Amino acid sequence: MELETIIGLEIHVQLKTKTKMFCTCDNSGEDKPANSCICPVCLGHPGVLPVANKQAIEWSALTSLALNCQIDEYSKFDRKHYFYPDLPKAYQISQFDQPIGKTGYLYILNPETKTEEKIRINRLHLEEDAAKLHHTPDKKNSLVDYNRGGTPLMEIVTEPDITNPNQAKLFLQELRQIIRYLEISDADMEKGHLRCDANISLRPIGDKKLYAKTEIKNLNSFKMVEKALEHEIHRQTKLWLEGNPPKDLTTRGWNDSKGQTEEQRVKEEAHDYRYFPDPDIPPVHFLLSAENPCQEKEILIDVECLKTQLPELPDHKRKRFIKEYDLNLDEAKILTEEKNRANYAEQVFSELYNWIENIIEPAIKKDDFWEKNKPQLTKLSSNWLINNLFPLLEENQMTIKSMAMTAENMAELITLVFVKKVNSNSAAEILAEMIKTGADPSHLIKDKDLGQISDSDELESILDAIIKKNPKPVEDFKNGKEKALQALVGQVMAKTKGKANPEIVLKLLKNKLK
Ligand code: ZN
Ligand code: MN
Repeated sequence: MELETIIGLEIHVQLKTKTKMFCTCDNSGEDKPANSCICPVCLGHPGVLPVANKQAIEWSALTSLALNCQIDEYSKFDRKHYFYPDLPKAYQISQFDQPIGKTGYLYILNPETKTEEKIRINRLHLEEDAAKLHHTPDKKNSLVDYNRGGTPLMEIVTEPDITNPNQAKLFLQELRQIIRYLEISDADMEKGHLRCDANISLRPIGDKKLYAKTEIKNLNSFKMVEKALEHEIHRQTKLWLEGNPPKDLTTRGWNDSKGQTEEQRVKEEAHDYRYFPDPDIPPVHFLLSAENPCQEKEILIDVECLKTQLPELPDHKRKRFIKEYDLNLDEAKILTEEKNRANYAEQVFSELYNWIENIIEPAIKKDDFWEKNKPQLTKLSSNWLINNLFPLLEENQMTIKSMAMTAENMAELITLVFVKKVNSNSAAEILAEMIKTGADPSHLIKDKDLGQISDSDELESILDAIIKKNPKPVEDFKNGKEKALQALVGQVMAKTKGKANPEIVLKLLKNKLK
C-alpha cells in the first residue's frame, strides 16, 4: 500500500507590542520577575473592562495582507471557555467566526524541483496568551507566572496542503522571515515567540478522504518540527501496514531526548468551548474604501493606510535581487535573510557605481564601464558580504546596525580589490578593522603599507634577484615545465610579504624567461 502524508500547521506568534492585548501592562514580562507585569484586567478580576490594543489588531491585519488573506469589513472578539490555572478568567478572549484574515496563501520553493508550491492559509486571528506554569522539580506543585497572560497572540492556521516534513519546515521559515520583515515579533521559536502545533495524518494514495489526525505539540525549533513529523510518519505507516490506522483524534507531545512522540490524550469528541461574542469589546471595523462610514463605538482600522506600510516582502526581494544584480538564488537568499542586511547590500551595490568614477580612465564612459562590469562587481560584492562581512559580524557579535562601517566604505574596499590595489588577504585584514572603527580603506592601506605592488619597475629588481637564486626551476621552465614558475611566484610573494600582484608577477616572469 502506497501512503501519502497530509500536514497542516497551527502557528501562534507573540506580538511585541508595548503593552498587553487588553490592558496597559508592560508586554516584556518574559525577562522580568514573575508576576511583576500584571493588573486586575489580565488577572481577570470581576468588574474590570478590557480595552483592545489597536496596534495588535493593525499588525494582525498587516500580516493578513502579507499572507494574501482576505480581510472582511467586520471582525469581532469571542470568549472561548476552558478551565485551567493558566487562564484566570476561565475563558480566553479569542476570535471564532469572524477572524481578521481568511483564505490566504504562501508559495514555498521546492528545493529539489525548483517549483513553487502553494500552501493555503485557512485563517489568521488574534487572541490573548495564557500565563506560564512552572512545575516544581518534585512535580508536586505548579507555580503560575501571569506576566505572559494577556500577551497579544496571533494564530495562523494553514489548510492541510503540506505534503512532507521538509516543506513544513520551509513554510515556517518563510513565515518567520515575513514576521521579522514586518517587525511585529522576534519570532524566536526557542523563546516561544513562535509556537507551532502540527497536525498529521496518512492515507492511501488515491483516497480523497481525510482520516483521524494526530496533533503534535511541544515543537520548539524548526529541526524539532521536521524530526517529529518524520517520526510520526514512520509510526503511522507502521499502523497502516498492520491494518490498524489511527481512529481517534489524538494529541502527542514531542520528546526530544527520546526522539519520539508520546501520547498525551485521546480526544473523545471535539471540545465544547461555548464560544460567544465578548460583550465588553466593540467590533473591529476595517475601512476597506473611503466610502464605508464609521459607526459609533467601533474599533476603526484603515486598511488602505496599512497597505502603504507593507514593506517589500522576502519572496519579492529575493526575486528582485536575482534579476537586478545577476545573483543566484543561494546568494539572494543569504543577502535577504534579514531586512537590514538586504538594505545594506543594496546600498553597497549603489555606492559601487559612485566609486567607479575614481577607477576608470577619463576616456571611458562611466555608464558603459558599469554595464560591462556590473555582473563581476556585484558578484565580487556579494562574495565579500556573504563570505567575509557576515561571518565577521557574527564572530564579533555585531550586527549591520551596531557596526561602524558605512556602505560607502565597504564599496570602496570592494572597488580597491577589483582594481587590485589591495589583495584579498590584506583586504580581509582591513575589513576587520573597518567594522570596529569605521575608518576608510584607502587610509588603512596607506597606514599599514598593505597596497598591492602592481608596478613593474618595482617588481623587476625583486624578480631578477629571485631568478638568479633559483636556477633549477628556471631550467625546468625552459624545458617546457610551465608549473615550475609557481615556485618562483611563491618566492616573490614571500619576499613582498604578500603584497605583489601574483598575476602580474607571473606575466613578468614569463616575459623575462622567454
Ligand atoms: Zn494587565
Ligand atoms: Mn490559539
